[in-house]
Amino acid sequence: MYKSALARLQLETDLRRAIERFEFRLFYQPIVSLTSGSIIGFEALLRWQHPERGLLNPTDFIPLAQETGLIVKIGNWVLHEACRQMQAWRVHYRSNSLKKISVNLSVKQFSQPDLIEQIGQILHSTGLDACCLALEITESVIVENGDVATTTLSQLRNMGIELSIDDFGTGYSSLGCLHSFPISVLKIDRSFINPIAANSRNLEIIEIIVTLAHKLGMDVIAEGVETKQQLTFLRNLRCEYVQGYFFSPPLDSLAAAALITANLQW
Ligand code: C2E
Ligand code: MG
Ligand code: MG
Repeated sequence: MYKSALARLQLETDLRRAIERFEFRLFYQPIVSLTSGSIIGFEALLRWQHPERGLLNPTDFIPLAQETGLIVKIGNWVLHEACRQMQAWRVHYRSNSLKKISVNLSVKQFSQPDLIEQIGQILHSTGLDACCLALEITESVIVENGDVATTTLSQLRNMGIELSIDDFGTGYSSLGCLHSFPISVLKIDRSFINPIAANSRNLEIIEIIVTLAHKLGMDVIAEGVETKQQLTFLRNLRCEYVQGYFFSPPLDSLAAAALITANLQW
């Protein structure tokens, strides 16, 4: 117990210093349109270049960042950096196909009273058009924020920002309310996509989620696509977008830029 309490305290101390020491990095994973076959955007994914422990994944530190509230400051950095990078790419590549940067928003960040102003300020200072930003929230963000969630989501949507539900199917969802939120995209969790070959019940669940989304006028992004077979299945279901190791793992900004230049088609 003593050892684990000490490790936690150490992690918290390191985390507090990480922003000032510029230890956070963003990796970018492409999102591919199945209509055009090309990359339409990226999801920004946080990494921590820890001075002793090397490159850490979000699962190693985001839970503690959430518990301690540090996620608000870190999340703000993520938003700013992702918008800055996207605007730089848009200016540099003048590419019309590069449309969206997706950023994950945690429950704590979402319930900040000044969230709207903060995001407005970030868009203003980076010069990124609001319609190029997509925010990913989980079902728990809506459930835990009640009526305030509806107001905040509407304000974000009115600014022109796209809203998507991340990890759809894994959380507690109020299906009856889904249509009343200004959500444009459902992201099917990769736990449904990954065992596609192994489990035919997953195929049915995926089909149901795609149908649900389409009936509600939403688009679908399938996460965790790793094989050609999964891609074909999703194409046949008329799923709009796909993301996963089959196309590319999350990349640092240089490698992501090389991928934009390569202009691959799937
Ligand atoms: P997520 O938003 O659902 O992101 C997708 C995760 O799936 C990423 O893990 C990505 O690397 C992984 N992934 C993508 N394609 C595949 C695939 O084909 N196979 C497999 N096995 N995995 C795949 P990552 O980067 O470790 O992020 C984990 C989670 O951490 C994210 O899940 C998100 O919930 C959270 N996260 C990441 N960055 C941020 C951030 O800036 N803010 C907040 N609040 N949460 C973040
Ligand atoms: Mg996400
Ligand atoms: Mg997800």
